Order: sequence, then structure tokens, then C-alpha cells
Amino acid sequence: MYRSNGNFEAYSRPPKPEGVGDRRAYFVGSGLASLAGALFLIRDAQMPGSAITIFEELDIPGGSMDGILDRDKGFIIRGGREMEAHFETLWDLFRSVPSLDTPDASVLDEMYWLHKRDPSSNPCRAIHKRGSVLPEVTDLTLTTKSIEELVALALTREEDLDDKRIDEVFSDEFFSSNFWLYWATMFAFEPWASATEMRRYIMRFVHHISTLSDLTSLRFTHYNQYESLILPLVSHLKSQGVTFRYGVIVEDVLMSASVGKKHATQIQLHSRDQDERIDVGPKDLVFITNGSITESSTYGDNDTPAPVITDRGGAWSLWKRMAARDRSFGRPETFCENIPEANWTISATVTLLDDRIAPYIERLTGRDPHSGAIITGGPCSIQDSNWLYGFTMSRQPHFASQDAEKGGLNLQAQHVS
Ligand SMILES: Cc1cc2nc3c(=O)[nH]c(=O)nc-3n(C[C@H](O)[C@H](O)[C@H](O)COP(=O)(O)OP(=O)(O)OC[C@H]3O[C@@H](n4cnc5c(N)ncnc54)[C@H](O)[C@@H]3O)c2cc1C
Repeated sequence: MYRSNGNFEAYSRPPKPEGVGDRRAYFVGSGLASLAGALFLIRDAQMPGSAITIFEELDIPGGSMDGILDRDKGFIIRGGREMEAHFETLWDLFRSVPSLDTPDASVLDEMYWLHKRDPSSNPCRAIHKRGSVLPEVTDLTLTTKSIEELVALALTREEDLDDKRIDEVFSDEFFSSNFWLYWATMFAFEPWASATEMRRYIMRFVHHISTLSDLTSLRFTHYNQYESLILPLVSHLKSQGVTFRYGVIVEDVLMSASVGKKHATQIQLHSRDQDERIDVGPKDLVFITNGSITESSTYGDNDTPAPVITDRGGAWSLWKRMAARDRSFGRPETFCENIPEANWTISATVTLLDDRIAPYIERLTGRDPHSGAIITGGPCSIQDSNWLYGFTMSRQPHFASQDAEKGGLNLQAQHVS
């Protein structure tokens, strides 16, 4: 989809690029970025699916959008997306992906129909004092000074923000506002995070300000996003002939440089104790879209904190190797070696309803957690938690197999960064 003036170009098909049939495409990682890239290559660039290969070091696709049933730990998702109407590229992508659950519908149709029947809203955006819904929940409680600081940040040029933190551009009264509570817990900010990033979010999500307290702007899938978005997309790509190779680490991508251009010349892989080299032709394409916030994720439990491992191979090692040879690839250490400074709020996604949990959720939300409809519609944040902890309960069951597991393994899947 190409957006220009109006929608003249949005719905037209681009002409088939010359020579596309002679090219191959390789994707490092099977996160949403790679899966989307593969689909757009097939749909818009008319590349045959059989010319596309996706390498993934894990055993499942989806990257940050994974969904796992671990026999010991239970249902695990590393992230949950708050999606909204202005995800132009995402909706363009999923209009072309057949649903696995709803016959004769795309994933977008399925979500849209569901949203019309069961629109999202959040009846308990924040609680405090061990479970009382915050009073004046719709009031953003911003003082005149805080509003001026917000406007000033939006009007400051990025290059003038240097490496400033959020708490260097706002005063104390801003951080005690409901605006900050909602903003920080919705978009995962901490006072020590980057003011530049905060500014970008203000520009990108300014239309959310009027719905910060009820989250009616959000859109949710039927099940978790691994089952409702990733699995249909992978299934569609496979039906088009795309090759998925799991358990394969891309260790290095060699490049040659000519004036103004860089070319990948070789992909170096490691899988099952075997090294492999793939030569890349001058017309071939290599996409590396890794380096996201789940790259260093590890698992803990109620008694053991998740260990901190800044570089466990894969994404960071690949990026470091490439950047060591060519500094124009940036500074990966900035992102992977400062985990405490990149920490943000913690939230849990409740997946299994048992008799201990359901009455509490019903008292807070006024909604029946067994109804199958939207329950919290996004996070319910605990204002007086030192971690700004929060929880979400999406439509239940959140995993298709959840009912079968009921009474079994676990109560919640956490998404923690
Ligand atoms: C808790 C949480 C909340 C979020 N909330 C939102 C939200 O509300 N709204 C929103 O829009 N987004 C949200 N996101 C962000 C969104 O999930 C990510 O931006 C997106 O999924 C990243 O996709 P990706 O393909 O770029 O990377 P990833 O999903 O990280 O995929 C990269 C893949 O590459 C693989 N890989 C990496 N290196 C190698 C290698 N060398 N060899 C082989 N394989 C490799 C990895 O295993 C992984 O599968 C959230 C993310 C998290 C974690």
C-alpha cells in the first residue's frame, strides 16, 4: 500500500518489477517484520513465494509475538499489543491473510466483525489501595505547568533534545498526574527513558489523549496475537511456497560496499552443530529486522528472578559483528548492554479463570469474566505499586486450548520487559 494524496494509490497494484522472478529473498528472524516483508514481496512485488526463505533461531515463528504452552510454566506470551485504528500497514497486511477460524474471511474481516459486536473499552483503567478503582479516573489531572511542558516537548526539535531523559524535561507535578500514570503504563515509559522517544510517541499517538482513561481506541483479536495473527500469516506464507527454517542462527552476513551502496554477499548460518554458507547474488535481497525488546528475554518464576543475559548469541552477536566491521550499522551495545535502564512497567495477562480470580475481576470491572467478551480492554494499572504493576484480561479463553487446560497448570502468562 502506498499512501499519497487521497486513496488513489492505496488500492492500486504496483506494476511487476522487472526481473523479480530472478531474485531470491532471505529474512533473518521470523518476527512480524519478516513475515510482513515476505507477504508484501509476494503480494505487491509479485515475487514467487518459493524464492523466499526465513531463518529463525527459535523453534516457533512470531518473535515477540510468540505464544507457548510450556508444561511447567504454563501459557507464555512475551508481549501483548495494544492495536488501534491507525495501524495502516498492519491492517493492509491482514486484509490479505485468510483467517484460520472464520470461513471465507480475512484476519482483518474477522477482527473488524468482532470489534463491531464487542467493542473494546476499559472499565477500570487504574486501581489503588488494594483494589479500589481510582476516583476521577477520566480527569488527566494535568496542571497548567505540565501542559506547557508537554507542548514544549512536542515543539522541540529532536536534535535539540540530545540524550535527555524524560525527567529532565518535566517537573515533579507532571509525574503525579493521571496523564503520566496512563501514558507510562499504556506506552511503557519510565521517568529515566528517552525524551526523544516520548516526543515521538506524543506525535504518533496524540489522537489517543481523549481516550487514555477508557482505552476505547484499542482493538483486540479473538485469541492471543500468536494464534490470531501469527499462525494465519505463517500458514498463508507456507501455502505460497515460502520456506521456514527453524533452529537456525544467522551468525554473520558478509557485505561488500561500493559507492553509496552495500551488498550482502554471504549469509553464515549455524544449525544443529553444522555451519552453512549461502552465497547471495547481486540481485538477491537480505532483510535483517532483529534487535527488538525481547531479544534478551529469559524466564523466571515465583521463586527465581529471570537471569540477566545481555547477549545470548543470535540477534545481538550478529549485529555486533556487522557493526564492528562497519560503524554505519550503529551501536548495538547501547541497546543490549543497559538492561536496567531499558526496564519498563510490568504487567501480566490473565489466562485461566478459576474460582479464586473471577470474582475479584468481576467486582473491579462489573463484567463477567466467563462471558467471552472484552473484560479489561487493556491494562488495569495499580497506581500505588512500586513497579507500576498492572494486569490485562482479554477475551477468554485467551488461548484456544485454555479450556482443555483448565484446572491444570497455571494462572497467568506474563509479559515483562
Ligand atoms: C511486552 C511487549 C509489549 C508490546 N506492546 C506493543 C503494543 O502495544 N503495540 C505495538 O505496536 N507493539 C508492541 N510491542 C512491540 C511489537 O511486539 C514488536 O515491535 C514486534 O513484534 C517486533 O517484530 P520484529 O519482527 O521486528 O522483531 P521480533 O519479534 O523480535 O523478531 C525477531 C526474530 O528474529 C529472530 N532472530 C534474531 N536474531 C536472529 C539470528 N541471528 N538468527 C536467526 N533468528 C534470529 C528472533 O528469535 C525473533 O524470532 C510490544 C512488545 C512487547 C515485548
